[in-house]
Amino acid sequence: MFIRQTLTKSLYTVTKPQLLANLQELERFQWLSLAELQALQQQYLQCLLEYAYTYVPYYRDLFNQIGLKPADVATDPTAFQKIPPLTKRLIRQNGDRLVTTEPSRRANLFRVKTGGTTGEPLWFTQDQIYRNYNFSHDYHIMTWSGWQLGQPQFWLWGHVPDTAPTGLKAMAGQAKDWLINRFDTNAFIMSPDSLTQFAQRLGQHPQGVLWSYVSTAYRFAQFLQERPALAAPIKLRAIYTAAEPLFDQQRALIEQVLGCRVFNCYSSIDTGDIACECDRHNGLHITMRNCYVEVLRDGQAVADGEAGEFVLTNLINYAMPMIRYQIEDWGRKSTRTCNCGRGLPLVEVVEGRKIDLFKTRDGRTVYGAFAKDLLPTIGSVKQFQVVQKNLDLVIFRIMTESIINPEKLQHIEQATKNALGHNVTVQFEFVDSLPTTPTGKHRYLVSEI
Ligand SMILES: [Zn+2]
Repeated sequence: MFIRQTLTKSLYTVTKPQLLANLQELERFQWLSLAELQALQQQYLQCLLEYAYTYVPYYRDLFNQIGLKPADVATDPTAFQKIPPLTKRLIRQNGDRLVTTEPSRRANLFRVKTGGTTGEPLWFTQDQIYRNYNFSHDYHIMTWSGWQLGQPQFWLWGHVPDTAPTGLKAMAGQAKDWLINRFDTNAFIMSPDSLTQFAQRLGQHPQGVLWSYVSTAYRFAQFLQERPALAAPIKLRAIYTAAEPLFDQQRALIEQVLGCRVFNCYSSIDTGDIACECDRHNGLHITMRNCYVEVLRDGQAVADGEAGEFVLTNLINYAMPMIRYQIEDWGRKSTRTCNCGRGLPLVEVVEGRKIDLFKTRDGRTVYGAFAKDLLPTIGSVKQFQVVQKNLDLVIFRIMTESIINPEKLQHIEQATKNALGHNVTVQFEFVDSLPTTPTGKHRYLVSEI
């Protein structure tokens, strides 16, 4: 194990020295006091604003239009709140106007797309500095479970089949994965065979961490629960879940079957890591080096402890600065502090995608989570999805292998009507599989309104 760690470190020293430098910086950064962290964040924010004003046409025009100079924010940090949030619609409308015009940076840009919860992909531009940083940050939060560079890492993650590398590129990727002790399996096409193979690998390489979408980790745990002999040799250090809300019963099952703690993270392909649990599991620490988090309601900042919409500013991606980006997720900054000693403040678990808020005929907005507490009570539910088709129709799609007691279904129907109104028709569909987003994520709650 020690040899492997030395090998991995040497490889990174040669090929990615910046990654190791970032890791060292992040290690120091996390232990600063909140006041020190906030002061540093203001400096990072200031640099970003100045860069955006100099090199990014969208921001230059916007700042001129609202009469804001980056220097104004240095003297009065509240001036930052004058900047209108960057919505997904604005990103679509402005395209290349959001991308840097700085020639040296433009020489090496990548475009990535997110699946887009509405089915319409959204394109983002990033550069190698940002990518290296994201890798470093993943590794950094993995150390929160005691993991060290070179120890095994397993990824049960989505790879869209048509974008997976092939030929020489794929072989080079496999060699690199071997050197850094990384094992991947495609969450997009999970089959009993692929999961068996993956579980065997986990069993052969102790002390690793597993990264997974919440729903795929949960499905993997269900799969192993039925195959105790396959689960027995697995000795993981931690499971990092991301990309979807984590429900208590999912955490409980994953931890029970895989025999280690779940570290829940909040991240996104467009912004990188945003927050993650430490080994005390008191909430998710905001990753302040790369992300400035605001919580707004009707455009105004809310007090800590109050729920609202997240508006995020990534402090690393200068290729396409995203200032006050409306990610369409909800949550709240915690009023509690963590006893681990990190200065990074906590956010409480994200309350769900804005898009998953259900609407009622009398004009209310209801977070669809009212439905998620009901299904685990009805027996062997493998997976579910609740779809609001229109103001009068909600469909529960349920994957299960057993017959569900009609009384339980009646109970769900009644609870749904109580939450959304008695005009609502509730239908149940029993299915063999459920659709995922283009990047393989599962959505529990879908509003088609
Ligand atoms: Zn902590």
